[in-house]
Amino acid sequence: MDDVNRKGVISLSYVMDVTGTHVWYYFICKREVWLLIHNIAADQDDENLDLGRFINEHTYERNKKEVLIGNIKVDRVRKERGQLIIGEVKKSSRYLESARYQLLYYLQTLRKMGINASGELLFPEEKKTEAVYLDEESDQRLKEAVEDIRQIARQQIPPDPKKIKFCRRCAYREYCWAEG
Ligand code: SF4
Repeated sequence: MDDVNRKGVISLSYVMDVTGTHVWYYFICKREVWLLIHNIAADQDDENLDLGRFINEHTYERNKKEVLIGNIKVDRVRKERGQLIIGEVKKSSRYLESARYQLLYYLQTLRKMGINASGELLFPEEKKTEAVYLDEESDQRLKEAVEDIRQIARQQIPPDPKKIKFCRRCAYREYCWAEG
């Protein structure tokens, strides 16, 4: 079901499906969350988007086991000593908080389905991995974030742009900061 009606307005009664991508952007820029949810087209020629696609498509190619669970798509799934481990591949650890919460959101979604799993973030360019566990504190923080994302989605206009470091590599930078 569409979460946006023909006028581009989110229905108040509809409980929007939040995705891992929404969660990732929420911890970077709330305006970007609104732009994504309202299907505002980003600059498709942006080189950052292309690099992200390239890495997603070519890194860990031999180990790639992308799996769809419910409405979430995870890069890798493996088992170690009986423990299910969900892996998420990122091109950089620069936005670590966002990456953590995106993965935690997947773990939370799985838990709601009765599946207990832990996570690992994979940064192939940096040859680094980081273990991620869903504890009480992060579980609560995520619930608040998801509610806030739904609240942002219901707004008629996007939050004002705020200059942050990410703007330089954001596909919406022309949209937010073009002169005139
Ligand atoms: S350009 Fe900056 S303010 Fe605009 S959506 Fe991107 S990160 Fe947010």
